Amino acid sequence: MADLLDLSSEIIDEQRLDVPVNRVTNELSEVANGLAVVESFSHSVVVDTGEGLVAFDSSGGATGAAVVEAIRGWNPTPVRHLVYTHGHADHVGGSGHFAAAFGRPEVTGHRRVLDRLDRYAVTSDWNRLINARQFGGTRGDLGFGLDNGAARGSDFNTFLPAETLRPDRIVDDYETLTIGDTVIELRHARGETDDHLWAWLPDRRAIMSGDFLIWNFPNAGNPQKVQRYPDEWAVALREMIAMGPELLLPAHGLPIAGSERIARVLDEVATALEDLVESVVSMMNTGATLDEVIHTEHLPEGTLARPYLRPLYDEPEFVVRNIWRLYGGWWDGAASRLKPAPDRQLAEVVAELAGGVDALIARAHIAVDQGDLRLACHLVDFAAWSAGDDPDVHRERAAVYRLRRSAESSLMAKGIYAAAARESEALLPDGDRRR
Ligand SMILES: [Zn+2]
Repeated sequence: MADLLDLSSEIIDEQRLDVPVNRVTNELSEVANGLAVVESFSHSVVVDTGEGLVAFDSSGGATGAAVVEAIRGWNPTPVRHLVYTHGHADHVGGSGHFAAAFGRPEVTGHRRVLDRLDRYAVTSDWNRLINARQFGGTRGDLGFGLDNGAARGSDFNTFLPAETLRPDRIVDDYETLTIGDTVIELRHARGETDDHLWAWLPDRRAIMSGDFLIWNFPNAGNPQKVQRYPDEWAVALREMIAMGPELLLPAHGLPIAGSERIARVLDEVATALEDLVESVVSMMNTGATLDEVIHTEHLPEGTLARPYLRPLYDEPEFVVRNIWRLYGGWWDGAASRLKPAPDRQLAEVVAELAGGVDALIARAHIAVDQGDLRLACHLVDFAAWSAGDDPDVHRERAAVYRLRRSAESSLMAKGIYAAAARESEALLPDGDRRR
């Protein structure tokens, strides 16, 4: 059994960047007496209460069975209670496997988990589509270490497996559960989601922090998902610090021991979020446009080099947009984009003015040579929108987006740029397609 606490101490104390922190091994580690973590997507954190096990999160539909197997191999006691830290698919999608193995557990979750599950039913295909794109651009060496369908939801006919359990016990702001000899204080806060709970176990001085810490830059800006709450996220992290926890058990990444070490990590993550919010809101107050806000540096140098703040999953630029959306609206401040012309029409005029599609492609090559992939992507998009399905244009567009994918650090950007490359590659003659 890997000693996860030794590992996290070393990584944090020495600020090591060369050790993977988000591992999807489905292996269980006992990190304290009667308390274990199964490292998966998401983790399941399990406590032996003396009257059955309580599991925090069920992991996803594709990993739930392996997680249940790991728990059974550790402790023959059945899981009688499941607590959802929030309703994301990788935290609730494995619940059917828990019911199949142990009988239906009592499920506790925040009230808005119910709304989320209803929303997922209405937008099931949309969610499969965006997750296929989000997780479709990376190999296993990044962020959440996924190279298969584990988190995409695309292995199922619906985004959430039909067997997913709905919460029975509903929490609003605060609730204390006493199970056997274990007291669990559940607190609601908004952060990555509007339905988040985190748990304080006073006897163990332990916090189950759900996705408030993911050992990556906070997932507070996901470009394809609903509103996130970076400001309230930071408040929740400060409340956790104030409890003086000796053990922190996140749903992704490594558990952490020691109140000072935990406070350091949570404070640095909270500070990064606070810095972003403060900077963006103060620019909004001066009447800045989204364009100006996006192209401004908001974080001090070094922030993103922390082993728990690397932009390998989400990234600050996307969080900036989410802050804009939270405090403002969707309009970016450019009048022409309030009610824009169709992309295709604009692209045709740009191509015409440039002297043809070839001129756009040639200028895109120059941009690539100058390392300006942002500009190159605009130019190949104009070329492709104006040229219909022309394979010569789409070959160029695919190549630019493949380069862009490689140059980005976040899984979300990589996924979207890889999807753009695939769109164009699908229009190439068979022998010409990538792989
Ligand atoms: Zn998660």
